[in-house]
Amino acid sequence: MELWFTEKQTENFGITAKVSRTLHTERTPYQQIDVLETVEYGRMLVLDGMVMCTDRDEFIYHEMIAHVPLFTHPDPKQVLVIGGGDGGTIREVVKHPRVERAVLAEIDERVIAVSQEYFPALSQGFADPRVKIEVGDGIAHVKANKDTYDVILVDSTEPIGPAEGLFAREFYEGIYEALRPGGVFVAQTESPLFNAALISRIWRDIASIYPVTRLYLAPVPTYPTGMWSFTLGSKGPDPLQAEGEDETPIDTRYYTPEVHRASFALPRFVEELLAR
Ligand code: SAM
Repeated sequence: MELWFTEKQTENFGITAKVSRTLHTERTPYQQIDVLETVEYGRMLVLDGMVMCTDRDEFIYHEMIAHVPLFTHPDPKQVLVIGGGDGGTIREVVKHPRVERAVLAEIDERVIAVSQEYFPALSQGFADPRVKIEVGDGIAHVKANKDTYDVILVDSTEPIGPAEGLFAREFYEGIYEALRPGGVFVAQTESPLFNAALISRIWRDIASIYPVTRLYLAPVPTYPTGMWSFTLGSKGPDPLQAEGEDETPIDTRYYTPEVHRASFALPRFVEELLAR
């Protein structure tokens, strides 16, 4: 008998993956956590029935959410990752030798523990001595840490439940206060094909707070529509002026300086979302 996992991305559309076995399943105070062994994409982390990452394609998302801002900021010493409990973003952050401290503010400690057990390649960054894990709400963390960070990365779940507040204007204002002068932040901002109104609203909010606002895209096959957006707000440095590399070469499989620049070339329908 074949076993398939289907994520219903809308009421009328989804993706489905043949599963060889279920490795873990639990209900935490925040969400349902499942780890599946899929035939095509390897291990898959699923939260509340939504694909978070897979062995096969996670490198694209995690390299793009981390290296674009980290190569945009001229000297990223203090970095904060909000959410990101699977560890993929932190793993990319600690590839940068300039980073002196990388804080993870993740609300659900069980996501961290499950990733350490089932996704060793993803969670390896947690062992870096520069990493500090703070279990708690990212909203409260930015309020309590004003003028602290050079780069902030919002690697959250979809804008529902505990993550809903991570897509609010008030939160982007809190991030502004938590950033040091010249600070840069990036948030994962969903799919331009499925979440057009959300992306337009987020763009307007961020553009009204930060002097530099940019949106870039990357393909994430296992996310809804496969086209994923990242919105960047900066107190100064412009990603379009960045070299996209520095004197220390870092190991990547997707990110390159050329990909950095190309990711900001937007299809017309996305440009129109930002002009609304
Ligand atoms: N890359 C994935 C995506 O784009 O959907 C997100 C991966 S990561 C697993 C998302 C994390 O955000 C989850 O572990 C979840 O517990 C965490 N999270 C949700 N709301 C949060 C909040 N308010 N503060 C901190 N972490 C939060």
